[in-house]
This record gives sequence, C-alpha cells and structure tokens, in this order.
Amino acid sequence: MEYDSLDDFRERAGYVIGDMWYPRVTSIVNIKSKPALYRYYANMPGWRAADEAKERSAEEGSRVHDAAEAVLRGYEPIIDEFTRPAVEALMEFLRNTHVKPLLVEERLVSRLHHYAGTVDLVAEVNGVIGVVDIKTSKAVYRDYGLQTAAYAAALREDPALPHPATSWVLRLDQCRTCANCSGSMRTKGGTVRVNGKGSRSCAHAWGPMTGQFEFKELADHEADFKAFLAAKDLWEWEHRDFLQRLTK
Ligand SMILES: [Zn+2]
Repeated sequence: MEYDSLDDFRERAGYVIGDMWYPRVTSIVNIKSKPALYRYYANMPGWRAADEAKERSAEEGSRVHDAAEAVLRGYEPIIDEFTRPAVEALMEFLRNTHVKPLLVEERLVSRLHHYAGTVDLVAEVNGVIGVVDIKTSKAVYRDYGLQTAAYAAALREDPALPHPATSWVLRLDQCRTCANCSGSMRTKGGTVRVNGKGSRSCAHAWGPMTGQFEFKELADHEADFKAFLAAKDLWEWEHRDFLQRLTK
C-alpha cells in the first residue's frame, strides 16, 4: 500500500493551506505509470536493491535541489561531492542565459481545481516568463509537462503572481566521459551505469565527473493541463476512501 494510514496520507499526499487540505501535484502525477521505471527495476539485481538505489537517488536529487535553490536566491550553496558538478552546470546555464528568478521554491495553490504544489522556479528567461522545473534525471520526459502545467495554471489564478507564458525543464546531470570510446558513466544512488557507443572491449579511461545542463521547453500546455486534470480524477478515484475520511 502506498500510504500506511490516514495520517500518512494527509501528511505525504497533500498540504494544509489556511484551513484547507489540498492534494499535492507530485502525488497526483504519480498515478501515471512510468514504463521507464519498470525498465529500471528490471535492470537491477533485485527489488530491494532497486528500491534502495531509487531512494538514495531521490535524496541526491533533493540535495541538488537545495543547492540550486540557494544559488537562485543568491546564497552560497552547500556543495559536496555529488552537488558540485550539478551546481557548476547550473552556474554555466546562468552565465549563458539571461535568467531573472521571480519565485524560488514557492508553494502554489489552485483553489479553482483544488490542488497545491511547490514550484522550483518561476523566472523570466530571455524575456519570457515561464515555470522552470529542475530535474536530475537522465532525460527530459513528457510526463514533466503535467506537473509544470499544473503550476502554470495555479499561477494564472492569482493576479498578484507572475503569469507564465511557457514551461521549461532544467535538467542538471553529471557524468564522466571515456577518453577512448566517448561512452559515459553516471553514478545515481550508488549505482554505476555506463551508456553510449562505448565498445565493450574498451578499457575505459574515465575523465572527471562533469556537470551538464539541458534546458528544454515543454510546449503542449493545454494538452498537458488537460492530462493533469484527468490524472487528478483518476488519483481521486484511487484514493476515494482516504479522501472521504479526510473530509469528515
Ligand atoms: Zn571507453
């Protein structure tokens, strides 16, 4: 079971804002199945090892988020072995792109559609206002559009908040590149993975861990928001019993 008790559900699946409980955007979008995740589980030595690596990787991701938040607020980030390349990638992105942060790690609420979430960043990027979601995954998945569309819609409900024209994913990644075969090595949650054209016989000569960024627009705003609301309907159906007990 995803949640142990009503308290667990209340705590982890939502936010209390004022005297209202709102389901979380991240919890809602989790209802959608993720084929890439099954592939990940299938490639791991066992279920528990996969779960533990996933948890460590999520923890690494949240350290990168904290460091990125500090940088975007103009503070000195906490840098460790894992966050350093990601922070360097973020710095490089900020040097090359005109980014004016408007909101950093801000709780947003849709009173119209009844959900809440925390947006990583709302910024003016090269003159365009948009939602920026920071990810540490190895690719930008279409799924991210559900989350950013939900934040964008919540922002547009409040005349006092910046109104985004689009959404982007800023992916902060890090890997080591082989000097011989140009294969790449990533370490996520303690698991080492080698990708690329690298020939199997190559006696890899790995370079240093280097940060990289990808900044990608998610442009299907309307379709994404429609899909988010559909996910929310399904999520409410799935958690009907908890939701009924919550509103009692
Ligand atoms: Zn190699």
